[in-house]
Amino acid sequence: MRRYRAIILLYICPILVESWSGDAHRVILDIAISNMEYETKNHLIGLTQTDDYAHLRQWLIDESTWADTEDANYPASGENPKYHFVHTSTSCGPYNPVNDCGDVDDPGVCLVTGITKHIRTMVSARSSPIQRVTALKYLIHFLADLHQPLHVGFRSDRGGNEIKGVLPYNEDLHNIWDNALVHEHKRTTGRVPFVKGKKSYSALLGRLIHGQFKTATEQSIKKVNPNNGMDVEALIISMLEETSSQLTCPLSYSLDGVSNVASGNTLGKGYIAQGSRAVANQIKRAGVRLAKLMNALVAQYEDNMAEFLRATAEQEAMKQAEEEMKRILDAEKVVERAAQRKEKKEMKKVEKEARRIAEAEAARQRRERDAIKLANEIRERQEKKAAADAVAAAARAATIKNKATPVLSKKQARAEKKKALKVSSDDNLHRALY
Ligand SMILES: [Zn+2]
Repeated sequence: MRRYRAIILLYICPILVESWSGDAHRVILDIAISNMEYETKNHLIGLTQTDDYAHLRQWLIDESTWADTEDANYPASGENPKYHFVHTSTSCGPYNPVNDCGDVDDPGVCLVTGITKHIRTMVSARSSPIQRVTALKYLIHFLADLHQPLHVGFRSDRGGNEIKGVLPYNEDLHNIWDNALVHEHKRTTGRVPFVKGKKSYSALLGRLIHGQFKTATEQSIKKVNPNNGMDVEALIISMLEETSSQLTCPLSYSLDGVSNVASGNTLGKGYIAQGSRAVANQIKRAGVRLAKLMNALVAQYEDNMAEFLRATAEQEAMKQAEEEMKRILDAEKVVERAAQRKEKKEMKKVEKEARRIAEAEAARQRRERDAIKLANEIRERQEKKAAADAVAAAARAATIKNKATPVLSKKQARAEKKKALKVSSDDNLHRALY
């Protein structure tokens, strides 16, 4: 069912992008899955929800061309047909991200950024399964496109699209590399891509992959850390520059080693033989590299996911510990507040008692002062009374004395007179005698 759905989709959705032929993409996926590690295939069976290896193989082969359909290039998703190629200068020199990636309308939109962004999604533990399946569908396609020499062709002729009517195919040069040279194998070997058994083109190419080829092809991928964007970008650029310098300039554009292919030129037998061998070689390279890249991405995703789960569990444990600590602190605060309340109550009691004692003391002192005052008043009153009594007594005494004085005076007067007379008589006598 899945297989039919994919085929129907291809008929419904027009092919939007000039791309390596469906056959090239399908053979690349067939080679890729044969070269994937057991763990990678198992992971992809789970991710794509295919039941087993045979269904996964078919799923990958079917989905290898999905990225060329209208469904895959809807602008709302941020996708763009310009992710399928890079436009280089005519020198095939080192990749220049400013000039080669995208154009004025879509700067930075090209195969390099397309592949790196989907690799990021594939390895991120935060990506949803749907996002990873979509990234997988783009990656299995873009890595193949990167190996088509005219997907890294010149900007001036849009990767050979403007070199028209090239013979003997009477096609534009881009299309010859997309399709005609891929299908040369049918003419020369009689093999078709997916017939099981001896005549399968995939099987033929698969048998042509030997250990030395694999080692040389895989080498760059082994060194890459898929978590490191710079590393991934450098890997994609190295593949791009390899295709560009080894094939695009010296082979795809070169008519005869002297001049470049122009519209209406006829390709010689040598060009076609070399071209179809180069295509076969690029298909094998892309297949092996895709397998190794998938091994690396799946392993990295599983590491990232394990790390993510460990970090999440740690965070959860820390959160719980923090909550527990908060509960303890809250409880301590409650106890502290209760103690403070109790202390306050005790303090109030003590203060009340102190106030009561102070008031009692003040009352006592007041009473003492009053008593002293009263005693003083009594004493004063007594003294005043005594003084008054004394005055009265004195007055009485004076009165009594005054009454007694005249009697005594007469008596005294008489006594005095008598005395005086005596003196005078004594005097007279005395004088008379002398
Ligand atoms: Zn494409």
